[in-house]
Amino acid sequence: MVRPIVDAGTDESSWRAWPAPADWPVLALDDRVRAAPPLVLAPHPDDEVLGVGGLVAMLAGGVEIAVVTDGEASHPESTVHSRAALAAIRRAETVTACALLGVAPTAIDHLGHPDGRVDEGALVEALTGRLRPGRWCVTTWRGDGHPDHEAVGRAAATACRLTGATLVEFPVWTWHWARPDHPDVPWHRARRVDLTGAARSAKLTAIDAFRSQVLPLGPAPADAAILPPNVLARFARPYETVFLP
Ligand SMILES: [Zn+2]
Repeated sequence: MVRPIVDAGTDESSWRAWPAPADWPVLALDDRVRAAPPLVLAPHPDDEVLGVGGLVAMLAGGVEIAVVTDGEASHPESTVHSRAALAAIRRAETVTACALLGVAPTAIDHLGHPDGRVDEGALVEALTGRLRPGRWCVTTWRGDGHPDHEAVGRAAATACRLTGATLVEFPVWTWHWARPDHPDVPWHRARRVDLTGAARSAKLTAIDAFRSQVLPLGPAPADAAILPPNVLARFARPYETVFLP
């Protein structure tokens, strides 16, 4: 269900005060996962780091990243950058950020779907060639509230069903519109990824590499930061959250 991302959203202090995550099972990162490192699928450059940057840092070495769109629609009325310029900037930011997590540029694929118009059929086809039974496909939750996040989540779910891969979903904008115990979120499927100190600090440094998103492009309202401090606070936790099937 697509939900408008408006106002300041749920404050991080509400999430921090919520006791439930302490009781979620911890995601097992066993030898099987390390032997067949996940494919991480990001709708836009930055979702891979916001959602599971710490997990990627802890598994670095074999993780593959596929970024579905170039995120060129983040500032549609920008007075500073054209869409083409933003696409190039955001591609480069993902490469810089993922390098900080230990992922080489050769392990990153830019699939080039138009931002806001993900071609789900083409994406399913591209994914089925890369997935195999038991391999994790880690991507945005199908109910995350952003149309691209949901489209990519749906395509990944279909590809996992066709190939026998395991769908591992993560929330991004859910932290904005939902509140603790929100009935529309599958908390019963939640697993906690406890980050090592090194993984958490690598993630925070990697988030900072998305300069076009964490800083304003210019003084005009159309050039405001997409990820202001109240949003970034949700991604600085010592753990990450995923939903297992
Ligand atoms: Zn996104």
